[in-house]
Amino acid sequence: MSHRWACLIGQPVAHSLSPTLHNAAFAALGMDAHYEARDVSAEDLVDAVAALRQFDCLGANVTAPHKQAVLALMDDLSDEVVALGALNTIVNQSGRLIGANTDARGLARWMRQIGIDPAGRPALVLGAGGAARATVWALADLGASSVRVLNRTLEHAQSLVEALGPSLSMTTLSYGSLAEAAERPAAPWPIVVNATSLGHHGLAPVVHPGCYSPACVAIELAYNPPETGFMVAARRAGARAENGLGMLLHQAALAFERWTGQAAPMDAYAAALTERVAHP
Ligand code: NAP
Repeated sequence: MSHRWACLIGQPVAHSLSPTLHNAAFAALGMDAHYEARDVSAEDLVDAVAALRQFDCLGANVTAPHKQAVLALMDDLSDEVVALGALNTIVNQSGRLIGANTDARGLARWMRQIGIDPAGRPALVLGAGGAARATVWALADLGASSVRVLNRTLEHAQSLVEALGPSLSMTTLSYGSLAEAAERPAAPWPIVVNATSLGHHGLAPVVHPGCYSPACVAIELAYNPPETGFMVAARRAGARAENGLGMLLHQAALAFERWTGQAAPMDAYAAALTERVAHP
């Protein structure tokens, strides 16, 4: 078997943890393969995607700003990509390019693994961007009875609910303004997810302490910094709080599994991340 490769397509890509994770996984499994980050402009996107059809290419990850633009360049799309309108993973199947979204399935798999069970319960999602879409899909996939989406720009929350509602018919979706999160709710929420990008910028949405209880799990999708104001406030109000590192690792693992047909070595991922944090 010749040397194989996979890559990240985006702009910028220098900050990405994906090369660290996937190269550690290839090494741990003794695979003759490497992963590289490719800084690709919108003008170069068609050529960059065409290169993925080469016989020695396993596939790619796709990040901002190309997650929607690549859809038209795929030969086939998975169900969740059709529902979400964005992909983050491309699989090269003998020259045919398949688009997948492992953010949604990665979040669902991580929640299942650490015992967060939305089945039959309502959930609150703050934000209405790409990560919020993946979150709503994951919560519905795990059987949440309803999901309320609150966002700064009301129209974006409305678009999310209108786009996903038809394909998630077992879960009731509704939306409102982010300001609603600061008001006392009728009852605490079992699950609250911060899918705004505030945490990534060292900020936090205002959430009324009455949204939380000791039975609540608050999930911050950002993982850098590892402890955000959203998590601190949720813990202070009695809830369990988690950051987005588990989602990151599981979306990477699902992509790795789709490319190689092998389970991703999660311990190698964790060790590589620890090393990267110690020597950024
Ligand atoms: P995005 O598509 O750009 O969406 C950003 C969201 O944040 C929108 O809902 C936006 O509201 C809201 N927002 C931005 N600035 C705000 C402000 N000042 N006040 C209130 N709301 C604000 O970003 P994304 O890709 O969904 O990412 C969102 C978060 O998820 C980031 O922290 C990212 O790091 C994290 N993430 C984590 C993973 C993982 O694997 N753990 C994967 C993907 C993303 P408007 O609609 O009003 O602009």
